[in-house]
Amino acid sequence: MKAEIIATGTELLLGQTVNTNARFLSEKLAQMGIDVYWHTVVGDNAVRLEAALRLALSRSDIIITSGGLGPTMDDLTKETVAKVLQLPLEVNAEWERQLINMFASRGSKMTQNNYKQALLPRGAKLITNDYGTAPGIWLEHRDKIIVLLPGPPRELEPMFIEKIMPLLPSSGSSLVSRTLKVVGLGESSVEDKLAEIIAAQTNPTIAPLAKLGEVHLRLTAKARSKTECQELLDETEAKLTARLGNAIYARDEQTMGSVVAELLSKNKLSLALAESCTGGYLAHTLTNIPGSSSFFSAGLVTYSNEAKSKLLGIPLQFIEEHDAVSAEVGRAMASQVREVAESDLGLGITGIAGPTGGTADKPVGLVYIALATPTTVTCQRFNFFGKRENIKERAVMSALNMLRLYLIQLG
Ligand code: AMP
Ligand code: MG
Repeated sequence: MKAEIIATGTELLLGQTVNTNARFLSEKLAQMGIDVYWHTVVGDNAVRLEAALRLALSRSDIIITSGGLGPTMDDLTKETVAKVLQLPLEVNAEWERQLINMFASRGSKMTQNNYKQALLPRGAKLITNDYGTAPGIWLEHRDKIIVLLPGPPRELEPMFIEKIMPLLPSSGSSLVSRTLKVVGLGESSVEDKLAEIIAAQTNPTIAPLAKLGEVHLRLTAKARSKTECQELLDETEAKLTARLGNAIYARDEQTMGSVVAELLSKNKLSLALAESCTGGYLAHTLTNIPGSSSFFSAGLVTYSNEAKSKLLGIPLQFIEEHDAVSAEVGRAMASQVREVAESDLGLGITGIAGPTGGTADKPVGLVYIALATPTTVTCQRFNFFGKRENIKERAVMSALNMLRLYLIQLG
């Protein structure tokens, strides 16, 4: 069963309105296991809409249109569908009465152009609109299903969910997606490691999507039931985990912050931060998580050398000797904030977010992240790229990942 979505409206072609109706309809149809093969967008033009409809009828079993059902001159979807299918338009007396009542209850007279909203192609089923004046239309013509929906998303979405989905044929199959989130490997190295699996595998399909500082793997399984889909997804996830190990840090709604928060809570460990170039971003990320008070003890933004000295007790001379952006100062920040805050773990971040301040041996994007635990202090050097905000985000992601890797090996 092949479905096609035709969105109408010149505003879509001009880029003034985003075609969210196509996204919404596609997502719902995919969940029902109905394959959407084409999205078409056509302006408010009868000739081009007619061509789009004829093409859709030649290649699709289910055609869903959005927009062009209103009272104005540029609303021509219903008229054009009727023309293409050679069906006369007939007045639906019941809807006409309702329209008249609707206008009367608002204290206004129904203008002549509104009457056309009560016209239906012969043999069509009227789909009532609880949020507007233009009804939807359900048509079965030969072996095709044609559904006409109003353009405004707040009318289209409830109409589709409540009134159209129950009428659509069952595809006999379900589609379920799962996202695995990968950190510490670029998109090309993920693809390289997974090339064979991706090429050999069609169900679930695997799509790598590059994000800032991470890669998401979107797996989509198709089977007779949701349970079978989940089983297929579990099998593929196991294969990918065998290849990527703990570079896979989360699934679906989980975030790096929520994973680290869970691990800290589980291990009953408290954390204090000394941030320089990230300016409190890591503290913000962690404290966005409900229940963070159970592990978050303190976050200091020690930006200047003086602040690093006064608040953390790192001698100024030490900072000047090694430079504020150095592994030595990063380590000192981590271990000192751990001492000062009397927490189990301390984390220090120092780096150059740019765009100015870089030198040949200390370029923009150079960041040291150090982790102090009850027994050790480790420090990693990173060279991030991108704009100032991106460097801060990448540094936060990497700091959280360092914490995660430490915490998972605690068991
Ligand atoms: P119409 O039913 O064609 O009169 O559309 C009414 C309004 O719905 C438009 O002005 C847009 O704001 C909105 N709209 C129409 N088509 C879409 C679409 N494909 N996606 C999102 N909004 C839309
Ligand atoms: Mg329109």
